[in-house]
Amino acid sequence: MVQPGKVIIFSAPSGSGKTTLVRHLLTCKLGLEFSISATSRAPRGGEVDGKDYYFLNDEDFRQSVLNGEFIEWEEVYSGSMYGTLRSEVERIWSHGKTVIFDMDVVGGLNLKSLYKDNALAIFVMPPSMEELERRLRGRQTDDEDKIRQRLAKARKEIGRSDRFDHILLNNDLETAKKEAEKLVQSFLEK
Ligand code: 5GP
Repeated sequence: MVQPGKVIIFSAPSGSGKTTLVRHLLTCKLGLEFSISATSRAPRGGEVDGKDYYFLNDEDFRQSVLNGEFIEWEEVYSGSMYGTLRSEVERIWSHGKTVIFDMDVVGGLNLKSLYKDNALAIFVMPPSMEELERRLRGRQTDDEDKIRQRLAKARKEIGRSDRFDHILLNNDLETAKKEAEKLVQSFLEK
Protein backbone atom coordinates (compact mmCIF):
# COMPACT_ATOMS: atom_id res chain seq x y z
CA MET A 1 0.00 0.00 0.00
CA VAL A 2 1.39 3.38 -1.04
CA GLN A 3 1.51 6.18 1.57
CA PRO A 4 -1.11 8.73 0.46
CA GLY A 5 0.24 12.16 -0.40
CA LYS A 6 -1.20 15.47 -1.51
CA VAL A 7 -3.01 16.32 -4.72
CA ILE A 8 -3.60 19.53 -6.68
CA ILE A 9 -6.74 19.75 -8.81
CA PHE A 10 -7.07 22.24 -11.66
CA SER A 11 -10.56 22.46 -13.11
CA ALA A 12 -12.11 24.90 -15.52
CA PRO A 13 -14.25 25.16 -18.58
CA SER A 14 -12.46 24.00 -21.70
CA GLY A 15 -10.53 26.99 -23.16
CA SER A 16 -9.88 28.74 -19.82
CA GLY A 17 -6.16 28.09 -20.01
CA LYS A 18 -5.97 25.50 -17.24
CA THR A 19 -3.76 23.16 -19.27
CA THR A 20 -1.28 26.00 -19.89
CA LEU A 21 -1.21 26.74 -16.15
CA VAL A 22 -0.74 23.07 -15.24
CA ARG A 23 2.10 22.76 -17.76
CA HIS A 24 3.71 25.86 -16.29
CA LEU A 25 3.52 24.49 -12.74
CA LEU A 26 5.17 21.26 -13.91
CA THR A 27 8.23 23.28 -14.99
CA CYS A 28 8.52 24.91 -11.54
CA LYS A 29 10.46 23.04 -8.88
CA LEU A 30 7.41 22.17 -6.80
CA GLY A 31 7.71 18.35 -6.83
CA LEU A 32 4.57 17.91 -8.94
CA GLU A 33 3.82 15.12 -11.38
CA PHE A 34 0.97 15.07 -13.88
CA SER A 35 -1.71 12.41 -13.58
CA ILE A 36 -2.22 11.08 -17.10
CA SER A 37 -5.92 10.32 -17.59
CA ALA A 38 -7.40 7.58 -19.70
CA THR A 39 -9.85 8.61 -22.42
CA SER A 40 -11.95 6.94 -25.08
CA ARG A 41 -11.73 9.95 -27.41
CA ALA A 42 -9.39 9.83 -30.40
CA PRO A 43 -6.00 11.58 -30.17
CA ARG A 44 -5.87 15.12 -31.59
CA GLY A 45 -2.98 16.17 -33.79
CA GLY A 46 0.33 15.87 -31.94
CA GLU A 47 -1.06 14.09 -28.87
CA VAL A 48 0.98 11.13 -27.68
CA ASP A 49 -0.38 7.96 -26.03
CA GLY A 50 1.00 7.58 -22.50
CA LYS A 51 1.98 11.26 -22.37
CA ASP A 52 -1.13 13.36 -22.96
CA TYR A 53 -3.59 10.56 -22.25
CA TYR A 54 -3.82 6.80 -22.26
CA PHE A 55 -6.00 6.39 -25.33
CA LEU A 56 -8.34 3.42 -24.95
CA ASN A 57 -11.10 2.18 -27.20
CA ASP A 58 -14.65 2.17 -25.81
CA GLU A 59 -14.54 -1.51 -24.93
CA ASP A 60 -11.23 -1.34 -23.05
CA PHE A 61 -12.37 1.79 -21.23
CA ARG A 62 -15.59 0.05 -20.08
CA GLN A 63 -13.62 -3.01 -19.02
CA SER A 64 -11.34 -0.81 -16.87
CA VAL A 65 -14.47 0.68 -15.26
CA LEU A 66 -15.77 -2.83 -14.49
CA ASN A 67 -12.38 -3.82 -13.08
CA GLY A 68 -12.57 -0.88 -10.64
CA GLU A 69 -9.40 0.69 -12.04
CA PHE A 70 -10.73 4.27 -11.90
CA ILE A 71 -11.04 6.51 -8.83
CA GLU A 72 -13.36 8.68 -10.90
CA TRP A 73 -14.58 8.59 -14.48
CA GLU A 74 -17.15 10.44 -16.52
CA GLU A 75 -18.63 10.81 -19.96
CA VAL A 76 -17.39 14.41 -20.16
CA TYR A 77 -18.78 14.92 -23.67
CA SER A 78 -21.34 12.76 -25.37
CA GLY A 79 -19.53 9.58 -26.45
CA SER A 80 -16.18 10.57 -24.88
CA MET A 81 -15.21 9.05 -21.54
CA TYR A 82 -12.37 10.25 -19.33
CA GLY A 83 -11.09 8.78 -16.09
CA THR A 84 -8.37 8.84 -13.46
CA LEU A 85 -6.56 5.57 -12.86
CA ARG A 86 -5.83 4.56 -9.27
CA SER A 87 -2.48 3.13 -10.50
CA GLU A 88 -1.48 6.56 -11.83
CA VAL A 89 -2.00 8.31 -8.49
CA GLU A 90 -0.18 5.56 -6.58
CA ARG A 91 2.71 5.61 -9.06
CA ILE A 92 3.20 9.35 -8.44
CA TRP A 93 2.89 9.10 -4.66
CA SER A 94 5.36 6.21 -4.65
CA HIS A 95 7.92 8.68 -6.09
CA GLY A 96 7.21 10.95 -3.10
CA LYS A 97 5.64 13.53 -5.43
CA THR A 98 2.41 15.53 -5.39
CA VAL A 99 -0.18 14.63 -8.01
CA ILE A 100 -1.53 17.39 -10.26
CA PHE A 101 -4.79 16.84 -12.15
CA ASP A 102 -6.23 18.63 -15.18
CA MET A 103 -9.86 17.74 -14.86
CA ASP A 104 -13.35 18.88 -15.76
CA VAL A 105 -15.39 20.50 -12.98
CA VAL A 106 -17.51 17.51 -11.95
CA GLY A 107 -14.45 15.26 -11.80
CA GLY A 108 -12.51 17.91 -9.87
CA LEU A 109 -15.24 18.23 -7.23
CA ASN A 110 -15.45 14.42 -6.95
CA LEU A 111 -11.72 14.24 -6.28
CA LYS A 112 -11.94 17.09 -3.75
CA SER A 113 -14.57 15.10 -1.81
CA LEU A 114 -12.35 12.03 -1.98
CA TYR A 115 -9.07 13.65 -0.84
CA LYS A 116 -10.53 16.47 1.32
CA ASP A 117 -7.81 18.43 3.15
CA ASN A 118 -5.10 16.60 1.22
CA ALA A 119 -6.40 18.27 -1.94
CA LEU A 120 -6.11 21.84 -3.18
CA ALA A 121 -8.90 22.42 -5.71
CA ILE A 122 -8.46 25.43 -7.99
CA PHE A 123 -11.06 26.69 -10.46
CA VAL A 124 -9.59 28.63 -13.39
CA MET A 125 -12.03 31.37 -14.38
CA PRO A 126 -11.96 32.77 -17.95
CA PRO A 127 -12.23 36.58 -18.14
CA SER A 128 -15.66 36.38 -19.85
CA MET A 129 -17.85 34.06 -21.93
CA GLU A 130 -16.98 36.17 -25.01
CA GLU A 131 -13.28 35.65 -24.45
CA LEU A 132 -13.83 31.92 -23.83
CA GLU A 133 -15.68 31.63 -27.12
CA ARG A 134 -12.90 33.51 -28.91
CA ARG A 135 -10.28 31.14 -27.45
CA LEU A 136 -12.25 28.00 -28.34
CA ARG A 137 -12.67 29.19 -31.93
CA GLY A 138 -9.02 30.19 -32.10
CA ARG A 139 -7.87 26.64 -31.30
CA GLN A 140 -9.46 25.40 -34.53
CA THR A 141 -9.56 21.85 -33.20
CA ASP A 142 -13.33 21.51 -32.83
CA ASP A 143 -16.27 21.89 -35.18
CA GLU A 144 -19.18 24.29 -34.53
CA ASP A 145 -21.27 21.65 -32.77
CA LYS A 146 -18.44 20.79 -30.36
CA ILE A 147 -17.81 24.48 -29.64
CA ARG A 148 -21.51 24.96 -28.77
CA GLN A 149 -21.40 21.90 -26.47
CA ARG A 150 -18.30 23.27 -24.75
CA LEU A 151 -19.84 26.74 -24.25
CA ALA A 152 -23.06 25.30 -22.78
CA LYS A 153 -21.01 23.15 -20.43
CA ALA A 154 -18.84 26.15 -19.46
CA ARG A 155 -21.92 28.11 -18.28
CA LYS A 156 -22.89 25.26 -15.94
CA GLU A 157 -19.33 24.84 -14.72
CA ILE A 158 -18.91 28.52 -13.83
CA GLY A 159 -22.03 28.12 -11.67
CA ARG A 160 -20.16 25.55 -9.57
CA SER A 161 -16.94 27.54 -9.18
CA ASP A 162 -17.70 28.61 -5.59
CA ARG A 163 -17.31 24.98 -4.41
CA PHE A 164 -13.56 25.11 -5.09
CA ASP A 165 -10.88 26.12 -2.57
CA HIS A 166 -9.78 28.97 -4.86
CA ILE A 167 -10.98 30.76 -7.97
CA LEU A 168 -8.06 31.84 -10.12
CA LEU A 169 -8.91 34.47 -12.72
CA ASN A 170 -7.04 33.90 -15.96
CA ASN A 171 -7.22 37.34 -17.48
CA ASP A 172 -3.50 37.92 -17.89
CA LEU A 173 -1.58 34.64 -18.28
CA GLU A 174 1.66 35.79 -16.61
CA THR A 175 -0.24 37.05 -13.54
CA ALA A 176 -2.25 33.82 -13.37
CA LYS A 177 0.96 31.73 -13.53
CA LYS A 178 2.48 33.61 -10.59
CA GLU A 179 -0.76 33.34 -8.59
CA ALA A 180 -0.95 29.58 -9.30
CA GLU A 181 2.65 29.10 -8.11
CA LYS A 182 1.90 30.96 -4.87
CA LEU A 183 -1.26 28.99 -4.15
CA VAL A 184 0.45 25.63 -4.71
CA GLN A 185 3.56 26.59 -2.75
CA SER A 186 1.62 27.68 0.31
CA PHE A 187 -0.56 24.54 0.19
CA LEU A 188 2.53 22.30 0.03
CA GLU A 189 4.12 24.09 2.99
CA LYS A 190 1.08 23.39 5.22
P1 5GP B 1 -10.02 17.38 -23.88
O1 5GP B 1 -10.82 16.47 -24.75
O2 5GP B 1 -10.16 18.82 -24.28
O3 5GP B 1 -8.59 16.93 -23.71
O4 5GP B 1 -10.63 17.28 -22.41
C1 5GP B 1 -11.99 17.49 -22.18
C2 5GP B 1 -12.23 17.70 -20.71
O5 5GP B 1 -12.03 16.47 -19.98
C3 5GP B 1 -11.28 18.72 -20.07
O6 5GP B 1 -12.04 19.56 -19.22
C4 5GP B 1 -10.34 17.84 -19.29
O7 5GP B 1 -9.78 18.54 -18.20
C5 5GP B 1 -11.28 16.75 -18.82
N1 5GP B 1 -10.58 15.57 -18.33
C6 5GP B 1 -9.35 15.13 -18.67
N2 5GP B 1 -9.02 14.04 -17.98
C7 5GP B 1 -10.07 13.78 -17.15
C8 5GP B 1 -10.32 12.77 -16.17
O8 5GP B 1 -9.52 11.89 -15.89
N3 5GP B 1 -11.51 12.83 -15.53
C9 5GP B 1 -12.44 13.80 -15.79
N4 5GP B 1 -13.55 13.78 -15.08
N5 5GP B 1 -12.24 14.76 -16.71
C10 5GP B 1 -11.06 14.75 -17.37
